[in-house]
Amino acid sequence: MTVPSIERIDCFQVRWPMPEPLANSISVFRERAALIVSVTAGGKTGWGETWAQPLAAETIITGSIGPAILGADASAPRAIWDSMIRLLGRDRSGITHMAISALDMAIWDVAARIEDMSLARRLGGAVQSSLPTYASGPFLKTGSDPYADMVPEIEGYLARGFNAVKLRLGADFRSDLKVLEQIRMRFGDDLPVMVDFNQGLTRLDAGRILGELPAFGILFAEEPLQPDDTEGYAELGTRSATPIAAGESLAGVRRFKDLIAANALAVVQPDVALCGGVTEYMRIAALGEAHGLPVVPHVWSTSVIHATSLQLAALAPKGRGYGFPMPTFEIDPTPNALMELGGKVAVNSDGTIDVPDKPGTGLDLDAERLSPFTKSRSFVDRQ
Ligand SMILES: [Mg+2]
Repeated sequence: MTVPSIERIDCFQVRWPMPEPLANSISVFRERAALIVSVTAGGKTGWGETWAQPLAAETIITGSIGPAILGADASAPRAIWDSMIRLLGRDRSGITHMAISALDMAIWDVAARIEDMSLARRLGGAVQSSLPTYASGPFLKTGSDPYADMVPEIEGYLARGFNAVKLRLGADFRSDLKVLEQIRMRFGDDLPVMVDFNQGLTRLDAGRILGELPAFGILFAEEPLQPDDTEGYAELGTRSATPIAAGESLAGVRRFKDLIAANALAVVQPDVALCGGVTEYMRIAALGEAHGLPVVPHVWSTSVIHATSLQLAALAPKGRGYGFPMPTFEIDPTPNALMELGGKVAVNSDGTIDVPDKPGTGLDLDAERLSPFTKSRSFVDRQ
């Protein structure tokens, strides 16, 4: 049997200046920036990415783990993941996992493409061929009123087919309540609404606002606290009548284990481009399932994470229970050219998104398509 060995790894630092800044309770985004990585093996190319610290991840990939995995069997992503984590064994921090995530995503993608099957099939087969979605917005604004235009923005999402939203809150207590009142007044009680505090609250403030949320029927409240405040999450998780969601900032399955063991989470949100890639996402998903918790991928940044996450979300069984179906798939509804690398993302008229059954993630990408956004490139190969 011929082994499809890894021949080449390319890194693309991509950037896109945003026409309008977006804000949450702690950050303002003026550009989108990510590291997109391709892995070539067996005559095919697979794609991965990471986004939180793209330059640091590139340094780790080109200087350390990239050269070490050249020649490795791309049809064995778990074995390569094991060799990468051993190589970086002194450091289990976020940046280590970001670098591993980008490579591991690309390796799984190329492994599936070599076998001419979708990533979901390569992982055992999709359980769902389409998924419910939510529009991940509106965001806060940078002007004098951070909460401006949220109602008309939601009207725009609904006109595009979305039937659930997740707005950013946490800038001001009274304004949080006021905008939720406006949303319920305008759209009624049936619109599924989630809220994201983006790590912006103290334990005290989180307790205050979570105490008010049951009146608004919020589906889940995301990241009220900083991601490593396990005690704080445990306290909120056992007290809050509104389910708490978190996980996008955690790297490695053991960090998820700690929060889940503390009864802190009702919804588990790994980011495949940060948590350790497809390999680690699968472990986290199994951990969530073992605890009866919905696992909902965090999706931000570019089409690469969108396409990969869609394949992974399709592996989860439909949640049993009342109300809005879980798992639900996060879609960035804001203007973002890096989310359109594979064409515009569209939802069906019932708010669902179809899961592609094409080779790999189904994303059609090459260096030329990335070139308008590519600020720098590097590679390692077997020459
Ligand atoms: Mg979030």
